[in-house]
Amino acid sequence: MTASLLKHRAFIGLGSNLDQPSTRVIEAIKALDQLPLCRVAQQSPLYLSTPVGPQDQDDFVNAVVELHTAYTPLALLDQLQRLEQTQRRVRLRHWGPRTLDLDLLLYDTLALLSPRLEVPHREMLNRVFVWAPLLDIAPEATLPDGQAIKTRVPLHDRAQLKRIPLQDND
Ligand code: AMP
Repeated sequence: MTASLLKHRAFIGLGSNLDQPSTRVIEAIKALDQLPLCRVAQQSPLYLSTPVGPQDQDDFVNAVVELHTAYTPLALLDQLQRLEQTQRRVRLRHWGPRTLDLDLLLYDTLALLSPRLEVPHREMLNRVFVWAPLLDIAPEATLPDGQAIKTRVPLHDRAQLKRIPLQDND
């Protein structure tokens, strides 16, 4: 597939807090780049964040990537869910530990609400570990209504995130 056919621009949020989480996230970014109809155009640094929900679990490693893709939004969600399964996602309890979580954050300027898929991702603006890495790689990113994401988030909350040095794996 030539690059010109990968004409849609999507942002994916990645998170992991089990089983060498930095490695899980790095492997998932490689796997996204190797999908037949996707290329990773940019990737954010990796960050450590404290868990949403139960606090008696390890910190999460998070990142965001920009994909150029020819998948439709639902076909892309299928691929994300397949990758989650292949990394043996562990779902013991709601908001509990997981080996890999992949969320479709934005897809072009699309707004979509269906039983399986909501885009932009419902929690995107509420989670510093999602919007901060997104703004790292796409500072001018907008919501489907044209509003700049950077104007809709508490930018000072970035200080809550700890950037993981590249050589520091888990
Ligand atoms: P979670 O376990 O919190 O990642 O939620 C997974 C569920 O959210 C799946 O059933 C998906 O169909 C649904 N979902 C809705 N919108 C999205 C989205 N933008 N990205 C990923 N999953 C989504």
